Amino acid sequence: SLVLGIESSCDETAAALVRLGAGGAREIVAQHIASQDEAHRPYGGVVPEIAARAHVERVAPLVAATLVDAGLTLADVDAIAATAGPGLIGGVMVGLVTAKALAMASDKPLIAINHLEGHALSPRLADPGLAFPYLLLLASGGHCQLLRVEGVGAYRRLATTIDDALGEAFDKTAKILGLGYPGGPAVERLAATGNAKAVPLPRPLLGSADPNFSFAGLKSAVLRAQEAGIHAAADIAAAFQQAAIDCVIDRSRRALDVAGEVTALVVAGGVAANRAIRLALEELAAERGLRFVAPPVALCTDNAAMIAWAGLERLAAPGFVADPLDFPARPRWPLDPEAAPVRGAGV
Ligand code: ATP
Ligand code: MG
Ligand code: FE
Repeated sequence: SLVLGIESSCDETAAALVRLGAGGAREIVAQHIASQDEAHRPYGGVVPEIAARAHVERVAPLVAATLVDAGLTLADVDAIAATAGPGLIGGVMVGLVTAKALAMASDKPLIAINHLEGHALSPRLADPGLAFPYLLLLASGGHCQLLRVEGVGAYRRLATTIDDALGEAFDKTAKILGLGYPGGPAVERLAATGNAKAVPLPRPLLGSADPNFSFAGLKSAVLRAQEAGIHAAADIAAAFQQAAIDCVIDRSRRALDVAGEVTALVVAGGVAANRAIRLALEELAAERGLRFVAPPVALCTDNAAMIAWAGLERLAAPGFVADPLDFPARPRWPLDPEAAPVRGAGV
């Protein structure tokens, strides 16, 4: 089957066509991503109103170009999937209402996708051998969670951040060091040239019994180190990244202790693009005798192929029902509604 996916929850406008073959083969048939980095760069972060307007301008041409590239029309697709949250509400509405209009016009089912479900299932698009249940570190601009992914629609949250997301900490560190926006890749590049041991930084919640994360104190320590005026920016970047890695590995190790049986240790979300973090997680997986799975970098940051793929997974699951045309756009939408709220946490 073939699904058209649309993503517009933050500052990427994206469309993709993904096919699931009879033998389980997965193929990204065509895709387009328009980044808004240039539009937001002067402000050092995403401006919601600018993002929403850019999505309005770009989403229809991107869908059209994706269909043209594939040599297909809406008549060829089996369903239309779009991110319905969580995210910046103006952007989410643009993609979702576009998908509703296309679904209505073509008489195809609408599938409203949780953006986090897109990230959570994206490793299975890249690796057909990845079976449930797996332990997922979902680390992105707005989230840092450890989830036991037990099936399509079955996500048990074991941990979340009690303050900042990991991607947010990378972005704030970049801002403090004057590296501009977006920050993650810039911090990673600079860190590769620095000495992590030159700047002592804290490792919040290291060794705590629950596997939760905290990055606010680390970010403040980065600010103090920069303001001290005695450290090279590269050393601060390297020290920050190493502290973040130490926290991620300690927390993931703790989560593996309590997760029960899993087939693999998996990472997804924008921060999964970070090579040093991938390497450290790969070592942890090896230590536990587990497979390690990380999607290719282009599938880690926001894209529509993961939304189309989540749609395909939903379509293929038993008891599939299409979503109604009045499905709401949700600024907040926890993947695991059963998870206990954590002090200070978003979702
Ligand atoms: P969410 O998925 O939580 O709604 P989002 O969609 O804005 O948030 P993503 O696009 O999934 O987030 O990820 C973007 C984040 O990933 C940014 O914070 C960015 O700094 C971070 N990131 C991207 N590449 C890297 C990298 N190489 N190293 C570290 N962080 C990175
Ligand atoms: Mg982005
Ligand atoms: Fe995302």
